[in-house]
Amino acid sequence: MTLAGKTAVITGSTSGIGLGVAEALAAAGASVVLNSFTDTEDDHALAARIAADHGVEARYVRADMSKGADARALIEAAGACDILVNNAGIQHVAPVETFPMDKWDAIIAINLSSAFHTTAAAVPMMRAAGWGRIVNIASAHGLRASPYKSAYISAKHGVIGLTKSVALETARDPITVNAVCPGYVLTPLVEAQIPDQMKTHGMDRDTVVREVMLAKQPSKEFATVEQIGGTVAFLCSDAAAQITGTTISVDGGWTAQ
Ligand code: NAD
Repeated sequence: MTLAGKTAVITGSTSGIGLGVAEALAAAGASVVLNSFTDTEDDHALAARIAADHGVEARYVRADMSKGADARALIEAAGACDILVNNAGIQHVAPVETFPMDKWDAIIAINLSSAFHTTAAAVPMMRAAGWGRIVNIASAHGLRASPYKSAYISAKHGVIGLTKSVALETARDPITVNAVCPGYVLTPLVEAQIPDQMKTHGMDRDTVVREVMLAKQPSKEFATVEQIGGTVAFLCSDAAAQITGTTISVDGGWTAQ
């Protein structure tokens, strides 16, 4: 498969899953636009490193996905958007009655509304180009709930609704819209939680990973950013041209339960 000649915009792609997806699409030959809300030397160096590693064009564009105008401006700044991967996301864990209002607003804005804004800006470009792929990084939590994650669960269920609705609107175009639903993936975000969990539960690292973090993941293994990247690359391939409006779980069996 080659994605040469295609431009991919990946929101929230300076670390974790977004970076893994950017690497996989660049490895398949796509030009990539990396994004986060910062604008550091490291951000631009990361783009330069990906360009050098894969022999593709890569650049970094700052845009804050908590702001609708920024999300739309990211797509405009990219200039082309054949592949849109809505990945930016944050988490906050608290009971609903004390869930901070600003955290609710930020999670809905970054994890859900940004995908609406980027999609609205990208679909006309995809129609004009005669080809497009939208992949929304949802979660097993887009299909199943857990307590104390009301905003995240609401946003991720919403992302799957957005995926289905836009897939129907673009069904007669050569555009597909799908959601990838990872279970636990060992990103820096998740890695950082392990020491706290070890302290809270009085467990060693392996026990925390197996008994606490992967309690719902029957494989008892993390999914990897490379596996999520590979799944997104597959959804961009010709073999996936009739896959639209659906979800693909990469969750070690979590949602089979
Ligand atoms: P991460 O924290 O490693 O990466 C998140 C990225 O989003 C970073 O590049 C960060 O800079 C960026 N970001 C955060 N706020 C932003 C903003 N306001 N504007 C622009 N960019 C912003 O997290 P991750 O684990 O790689 O998660 C990526 C996505 O995958 C999220 O949508 C998350 O919900 C989803 N997900 C993660 C897991 C997991 O286990 N790690 C599981 C299921 C779904």
